[in-house]
Parts: sequence; C-alpha cells; structure tokens
Amino acid sequence: MPKQSERPKADEFDPEARAALGSDRVKRLDEALTALAREVASAPDRASWFVHLPIPLKSSDAVSASAEITKHVERYDPGGSWFMTTGVHDDGKRFALASDKFALPSSIAPKDVASFLLFDLHARLISFGLSHLWRAADFAGSAYASLAAWEILPAAASARALLEGVAAFAVEGHQLGQQWNEFKKSGDPSVDSAEAFRKEFGNRLVQAQFGTRVGERSGAPGRLRRTNVLTLVEKFAKLAGDDLWDSYEWLCDAVHPSFGSQTVFVATQGRHPTGAIFAADIARRSYSLPTQIPKIDPTVARAAIDATALAVQHLLPAWRLNRWLASDLGMTTGASFRYAQPTIGSLDRPKRNDRCPCGSGRKYKACVHDWGMPAEEPATASSTSADD
Ligand SMILES: [Zn+2]
Repeated sequence: MPKQSERPKADEFDPEARAALGSDRVKRLDEALTALAREVASAPDRASWFVHLPIPLKSSDAVSASAEITKHVERYDPGGSWFMTTGVHDDGKRFALASDKFALPSSIAPKDVASFLLFDLHARLISFGLSHLWRAADFAGSAYASLAAWEILPAAASARALLEGVAAFAVEGHQLGQQWNEFKKSGDPSVDSAEAFRKEFGNRLVQAQFGTRVGERSGAPGRLRRTNVLTLVEKFAKLAGDDLWDSYEWLCDAVHPSFGSQTVFVATQGRHPTGAIFAADIARRSYSLPTQIPKIDPTVARAAIDATALAVQHLLPAWRLNRWLASDLGMTTGASFRYAQPTIGSLDRPKRNDRCPCGSGRKYKACVHDWGMPAEEPATASSTSADD
C-alpha cells in the first residue's frame, strides 16, 4: 500500500472507479488529504511526554519529608539538579514530586511550586494532540489508498476508525480547553489550586489518552475505563451535524460481517419480471465488471469518502485548538520556559516586544498568556504562524 506521501492523485484513480464514486466526491477527498498533509508536514514528527509520579514518604513532618526525598534522589542521581516538593495525601500520608526536567530556579517561591505542579501537563497535552494528528493522517491515507485500489472494506474500516478518533479528539479537546479556560480565568494559582487542577485536568487527559476496554470481557478490566466510543460520536454529531450518522452506520455495517460487508461486492442485482427470482452479480472489483444493466451505487465506498472528508474537516480545527491550548497553557504556567533541556514545546521566554510564539500576531506583552485572562484563542491566530 502506498504511503500517504505517495498516494495516487484524484485524477490517477481508475477512471471507471472514479466515475462510480463521483468525481466531485473524489476531488473533495483529495482536497481534504492535501490539507491534512500540509498540517502533518508542519508538525513535529516526534515528541516526549512524562508525568511526575508521587513518591510515598515515611516522614510525618514537612522538614523530614524534604530531607527524605533529597536523600532518595541523591541515592540514584548524586549531584543531579532536581526540583523537589512534598505534599500530604487526603489520608495524611506524605509524598514527594521530583523532576530533573524542570529547570531549577535559584530560589524556590510558591509560584515556582505551582508552576512545577502544572509542568508535566504541557508535554502530555502536546503528545496527546500529535498522536491524534498522526493517527488521523495514517487512517486517512490508508482509506484513500484502499479506495484507489477499490478495496472498499479496508477503506470503510479506516474511515470509521478515523471518524471515531476525530470525534474523540474534537469532543475531549474542547472539554480540556473549557477546563483550562475556567482555571486560567480564576487568576494566579495557589499551590493548592494548582494541585487540584493538576489532578482534575490530568484525570481527564489520562482517560482520553490511556483509558481502555481491554480485559473487560476476559475478566481483568483495566483501572481506567475508556469512555464508550458511541458516547463520543453522539457528542461529536452535535458539532458535525446528524448527516454523519448516514455514513457512520454504513461503515459500521460494512466492517461487521453484516449486510454492508456483503453488498460491497455486488455489481448488479434485481428481480426477474416474473417476480420468481432475485439475482445478483458479484465481483471483487465490482465497478469493473461488464454488465448489461446499470450497476448499483457503491454506497459503502461513498460513505467512506464522506466520512473521511468530514473527519478531516473537523480534525484540523481540533488540532489547531490543541496547539493553541498547549501554547497558552505552556506560556501562562511558564512550563514552556522551564524545561531543563530544549525539547518539542520548549521556548525561550520572548522579549516583551517580540511577536508572540502562539501565532496570534500580537506582541508578546499584548498577548493573552496571563493568569486571570480567558483562554480563548485570539481571532487573529492562524493555522500556520505558530511555527514561524
Ligand atoms: Zn500569544
């Protein structure tokens, strides 16, 4: 199967196949994939994420807790530069968070602790968005290549998976944005409010990234149960419109051993005038079978195109929202400027009169990455200028 970068162009589809699908439809698909390829080309092709794990401590007071985590880290990394902070669980037990990824300030103020508590959310958010973008690009590419080869069922499987992923990304990306907006608007975080947000936002993100249904039927379900995909598609339909159900239902029917999966091979069918016989001609490449009567419409193939084009149409704003969110969260919390080593998503703090790296076109001093301001994307932000 050709890679996406090597995919055939719309006018390289077999002319008969193209005619059967409808040349406008094929063109729409081609345009969607071209737009998607442009975004993928301007996005990183790798990133790293990390999460700071609570280390349980035996100490019962803050001073000895601090000494305990220092000793613990020293044992594994003598002389290393680690940021450390300790806290108390609801049950009264103490824990520590420690990181050599967070640049050590010369002296530690409460705002550094708050910034540290929000730090790992930044890299996780970037990786979450990139994984969705890459997933979508791979499925859209394989849907396209399958359609060009008239492999309708693999195209349907790819298009369905693409649509479900985009539904999740659009819905959950929006929810993450709303949650961040509420927190950011509430003003400078305290250590306690940063800890509470870290937990709530982190829980939503980890469910979206790593929730699973594996083990549900075999009696060993995972602790993090993934939201039902139909719930996400239903929420997405409110955004994308109910038209998606037509395509989605056909795709589901095609990838299950149901009517849809048999009908893709039917070239012609009909009832004898006597009413005595119903007959069908089937062919692996149904569009190319010479027939005496008109062929039936390739409903599943058309649904695969419509779903792919619709999914890409909604993926692109969801991806831009994710980039904006990572940028705004990174600069507002300071996470973008606090990486101990340069990485995807890290930035040198801009000077006040520099153009803001978020892509708004504003000067950094006039942009919106301050506590107390709303987290909505400025209207002037464009899809590409964040990389300028
Ligand atoms: Zn900005």
